[in-house]
Order: sequence, then structure tokens, then C-alpha cells
Amino acid sequence: MLPKAGQNLLLNNRLWTIRQVHPLAGRKLEFEVLGASPASLGMTRRMKAVRYGDDLFIEQRRQSYWYGHLQQDWLNHELGPALACRQANWLDLLAVHTRHPASGNLKNEFSWSYSRAATYQKCPRAYYYHYYAAWEGWQTNAPAPVKRAYLLKNLTSLPRWVGDLVHETIKYALIRLKDGQPVADNHLVKHMHTRAQADFADSRSGRYRQKPNQLTGFQEHYYQLNLSPAAWQTAWTDAEHYLRTFINSTLYADLCRQPVDTLLEIEALQFFTVARTKMWVQMDLAQHQGNTFYIYDWKTGPIEESDLRQQLGIYGLYARHAWPETITNASLRGIVYALAEDRVYEFELTDTTLHETRLMVETSLNNLRDLLLDPQANLAELRRFPMIDDLRVCQTCQFRELCGRDKPW
Ligand code: SF4
Repeated sequence: MLPKAGQNLLLNNRLWTIRQVHPLAGRKLEFEVLGASPASLGMTRRMKAVRYGDDLFIEQRRQSYWYGHLQQDWLNHELGPALACRQANWLDLLAVHTRHPASGNLKNEFSWSYSRAATYQKCPRAYYYHYYAAWEGWQTNAPAPVKRAYLLKNLTSLPRWVGDLVHETIKYALIRLKDGQPVADNHLVKHMHTRAQADFADSRSGRYRQKPNQLTGFQEHYYQLNLSPAAWQTAWTDAEHYLRTFINSTLYADLCRQPVDTLLEIEALQFFTVARTKMWVQMDLAQHQGNTFYIYDWKTGPIEESDLRQQLGIYGLYARHAWPETITNASLRGIVYALAEDRVYEFELTDTTLHETRLMVETSLNNLRDLLLDPQANLAELRRFPMIDDLRVCQTCQFRELCGRDKPW
């Protein structure tokens, strides 16, 4: 039962009598209260609150709340019923947030992707923040901890940004190639430079905080790491080097010579279904040439060959789904271009590889689904996603503020 006018809130041993309750947008509401304890007698306050079913969080100050359970935490006071609230923090609110279905029209549907599984492998808690706590953080009336999880989820880092910048520029080059309007090499570098400058300005000015999923925000800026101009210059130099490696390669020259209709798909976000679960994929390039179907992947970071086979195997499963007739009559090859090494890894994606990949995917998605509080509704419980012990990983994790690991150690 939501406290109403005439009832009381007991916060930090101070009693506040409710004069009015104002519903606000979404899960929010506001209490207009009058102090009834000696220390607050006669004082008036407006207290914002967030309600999830029977869980009520009253905002106190930065990063803390008062929490009361609307069925269990009532006591009788001489001035009338009082909801006795205890202190709570952002994680307490996130723990409740992820136990409740979304409030908007967009449901948080369970799905699987290679990067999702990799996030869990790296840290279960980071996985929880990314795929559950941040959900609906884009809403203007979302609770502050949810908004913060969403902001952190969208931060990038210098090395990741270099990879994204190069991928985006190669994508632009290939799309223009497919459209029959190839772009000159120097124009590609200029294009990337313009984007890099815009990203840097959006991040340094803090504009990304208004549109975290549209504008680039660096965790180096968010966490106020004093990176030298030389570090940024090195990042740019690396990006330009990777791009020039690509555009000067025989691989790109070959792509430029092929009929444009052999380029089937360029970095498009797609999904298909495995074991009744949506799988997200984004291939850098799919190409069909003669009797061979090629799946390309550009890498700017370190390479693990066994990971490559799995990742490309997933793309192979998607290709089979998207182009069944073409794949039946073609051999399927994965090509990974490691731009930092200027080295091409090429391997065949055989039926055995795809079968093993499918088994790996099914095992992984079943494991991830088994962790849920309610697999059907895709609801998660914080305590099932522990933090890791390796603080070196935490040092570069975008979520370290939520774990209290953002201070030097
Ligand atoms: S700070 Fe550490 S424990 Fe917390 S989410 Fe990141 S990697 Fe995991």
C-alpha cells in the first residue's frame, strides 16, 4: 500500500507526515511532507521517490536512497501508521530494477551474441550492468542509477574507439564501392579524421551525456584520466596506419576488381534464431564469388585463433540461414584481416566447424538463461552476477564506478 496523506514516513529516526502524494511520469512520485519529529518539527519537504511494485525508494542525496517495503515495513506510531525506511544505495535500486519487467513498450528480450557471451566471460557483474541494469536508462524519467548504468554502458575506450573508427571507415569505403562510387584513398583518411575530431569534441565537451548512444564518450574523459595529447595522437596514428594498411592491401584491391554484386552484406546488424533464441550478428563483409562464399572480419586488436574460428563459425551459421541456396552450392571460407600485423588468416568453415559452433552457442545461451531469476520474462537478480577479483580488469572497465572500483588502488 502506497503511503497516503495523513500517514508518515520514518527516515533516519525522523518522522515526516505526508500532506500530499503527487504521481510523476513513469515509476516516479513525489511526497509533500511536514516534519513531525523534534529535529524537523514544522519543516516542509518535497521528497522524490521511485516505486517498483511493493518496493519504494525515496531519494535522499547523491547515490543514496531510503528504502521501504510497502507490505512489510509499516509500524504503528502515536501519530499514525509510519513506513519505516532504511538506507539503500544505487545497487539496491538496480537489484530491484532488474527484478521487474520493463515499464515501457520495449521489452528486454533474451538474446545471444558473441560479444554478449564474451562480456559474461570477462565479468558476470559487467554483463549484468550491460544487459539488465542499463535497460530503460534512455528514458528521461528513469531512476538515476539506471540512467548511469546506461551512460556507462555506452562509453568507449581509446583502443576500442580506434577499432570502431577503422571499421566505420572501411564500411563507408565498401558501401561506396558497392554503390559504384569508390572513394579515393586520401578522401577516406580525411573522412576518418573528420569523424575522429567530432568524436573527441563530443566527448571532451561532455555532450555525449545527453545522447550516450549517439555521441561518443570516452571513459578516459568520464573518469578524468589525465591522458596526454601524445596518447590521443598515438591512437590517431594507429587508426590511420590500420586504415592505410587496408586500403593498400591486395585484399582491398581484389575487392575493388570484383563485380559489385558479389558484395552481399556490409556490416549490417542482423539476427537469426538458434534454439528459439534470437542471435545478433554483424559481419564486416559477406561476399559470394564463383563457388566460394567469403565471410570477412577486420581486426585491430590482438588475435586468438581459436576465438576467430568460433566467431566466424557464428557468421557461417547466419550465412546458411540468410543465403541457404547459395551456401549449399559453395564452399564457405572465413577471412580475418589482422590489420596491426598486416596478416590474413584464412580457413574453411566446414560442416563440422558449424556443428561445433552451434553446440557451443547452445551451451552458452542455456548457461546464460539458467542464471536468470525468470528466464521467460528475462529478469535478472544482481547476486547471481558476482564481481570479479582481478582488479587489473576493473581498472579499464567502464562500469567501475558502480562497483566502487573507480579510485586508484
Ligand atoms: S569494475 Fe570489475 S567487478 Fe565491476 S563490473 Fe567492472 S570488471 Fe566487473
